[in-house]
Amino acid sequence: MMKYIFNTFLLFILSFLIISACDNKPIAPVSKSRFHLSSSSAKPVKSDKKIKVALVPFSGVDASYSTLLKSEIELFYACDVIILPKQNLPDFAYYEPRNRYKADSLLKFLKMKLPKEYNFILGITNKDISTKDETYEDWGIFGLGFLGGPSCVVSDFRLKKSAKDINHLHERLIKVVLHELGHTFGLPHCTADNSCLMEDADGTIKSVDREEKYLCESCKKKLPKGIK
Ligand SMILES: [Zn+2]
Ligand SMILES: [Zn+2]
Repeated sequence: MMKYIFNTFLLFILSFLIISACDNKPIAPVSKSRFHLSSSSAKPVKSDKKIKVALVPFSGVDASYSTLLKSEIELFYACDVIILPKQNLPDFAYYEPRNRYKADSLLKFLKMKLPKEYNFILGITNKDISTKDETYEDWGIFGLGFLGGPSCVVSDFRLKKSAKDINHLHERLIKVVLHELGHTFGLPHCTADNSCLMEDADGTIKSVDREEKYLCESCKKKLPKGIK
């Protein structure tokens, strides 16, 4: 009898440990790139429906970005984009020593703002954002996305530097947004084609400029249903 009680107890403890481990998926950047990805759980995508993405402009970001990005995303991924009202950046994400915002915290904030009927959420900011790297505690980045969703965030702060003109800046912004959304749709970095948008940017703006606004066949195949 005692053995039975002990075994039941052990089984209970083990189940609890397994559930806890699944609930706390680590947020772990996978490379030194300025494009980073983390892992999280997303709402399952219904296969017969068009995917819906919510876009959040954070306060201070260029007012023209929302409509520009909406049309670019809808064209590229054949999904629906809704523009949500402007949001203030949350204080809990602010990292005073570098006057930056922690992208990982922004992803969590955005996840909380995801409207019920939407699958993914994208935040755009003009403030510098950073994440923890394998080497650096606080590493400035262009964007960050949860692999498989639901949220991603992009900053134009580093994209503005050395941009030739407004068109060049827009081109960079669109490519980084499409790249981060690719991660949220479940695409890992691409090694099949070095002009593919999902190539690891390797931390440089030169890589962003080199990449084309195009997804290779291998990446396209990995996209969930509801996106072309
Ligand atoms: Zn990436
Ligand atoms: Zn690819």
